[in-house]
Amino acid sequence: MQTNEIIQQFEKYVISNYGRLPFVITKGAGSIITDSEGKEYLDMFPGWAVSGIGHCHPKVVDAIQQQAGQLIHMDNTFYNAQQGQLAQMLSERSFGGKVFFCNSGAEAVEAALKLSRIHTAKNKYKIISVEGSFHGRTTGAVAATAQPKYHKGFLPLMPGFVYIAHNDIDGLKAAFDDDVAAVIIEPIQGEGGVRLASVEFLQTIRDLCDENEAIAIWDEVQCGMGRTGKWFGYQNYGIEPDIMTLAKALGGGTSIGAIVARAEIADSLVPGTHASTFGGNPLVCAAGIATIEAIEEENLLENANEMGRYAQAKLNELKDKHNCINLVRGFGLMIGIVLNEPGAEIVAKCWEKGLRINCTQGNILRFMPAMNVTQELLDKAIAIFDETLTELSGTTSAEE
Ligand SMILES: *Cc1c(COP(=O)(O)O)cnc(C)c1O
Repeated sequence: MQTNEIIQQFEKYVISNYGRLPFVITKGAGSIITDSEGKEYLDMFPGWAVSGIGHCHPKVVDAIQQQAGQLIHMDNTFYNAQQGQLAQMLSERSFGGKVFFCNSGAEAVEAALKLSRIHTAKNKYKIISVEGSFHGRTTGAVAATAQPKYHKGFLPLMPGFVYIAHNDIDGLKAAFDDDVAAVIIEPIQGEGGVRLASVEFLQTIRDLCDENEAIAIWDEVQCGMGRTGKWFGYQNYGIEPDIMTLAKALGGGTSIGAIVARAEIADSLVPGTHASTFGGNPLVCAAGIATIEAIEEENLLENANEMGRYAQAKLNELKDKHNCINLVRGFGLMIGIVLNEPGAEIVAKCWEKGLRINCTQGNILRFMPAMNVTQELLDKAIAIFDETLTELSGTTSAEE
């Protein structure tokens, strides 16, 4: 099928809830993707943070192929070895909790919200969440997402959510009362523009949750699984949650979500309270196991740290050169470039030149390469970015 035929087929048969670029991607390998015309692009935002160890990592491909020949799906009527092993791996690398598996980030958030409410019972129902957050698109997750643009058309929202400003400790204290079941926060906001929680803010959430018998939920769907240079974003702060949500990079590209919950909380999720038909199936769990093994065998946490430092230093050099860059922030390879102007045109021009990056919140570029990115690829990507900024500043001043 020709590229234009594929696009026409989408127009006719696929619901158009995405603003898609008119390209068909046919292949991915590491940090390189290829379109149907054979053109290659450097992917510095692989799979919206899903392909955390790059596209089609050979170890993950191998694990999927082997597992597919053995058993693809088995329901939770029985045990399967892969689910238990992946749960143990996540528990041992985080805070020693127990794991529930689902299929996406939003589902992980839903599971965390339901577990918080059922655990704190006694009519506690309020969930505090933070402005600029993104927790997913299901009804509960949208209500947890404290950004009005995601609420449009879906009012009234699921009740019980209380929104506070980011890093606002006084606002947090004021919002706390006996009805609060949980606070949900991304230690490092992703869609919100790589905004970091302050240490004091995260610590105050932790303390207030302890004092009020509420649950601290860290949404690690985007910042978890190694890209910040630690297994989980919160480990950069040293402040543990009661429940952590995971998805995106967890399955090496397959659809998997999970929560990790402290054991005494986790035990409130008894049969009949929550479930997922696909959750924890052998195929995606095998991919998750292979992903974690690859990160360890190839020292990718270390590489994310080292390459993150390198990329941030290089991008900071560009800040001195290009007025449009306000600041560069992040941990490891979770990098946000805050612009003084809209970023859409920059992203479009980079794409034309064979570089994929992302723009969020209108003016924040997300640069989130795979954890196994090399210095050579970063140099290439940053050179294209530099060239793009030079060209665009040229055209803007000419137009002015
Ligand atoms: C992407 C994201 C979600 C939603 O994940 P889906 O898999 O799209 O449902 C939730 N929380 C955070 C922090 C995310 O980045």
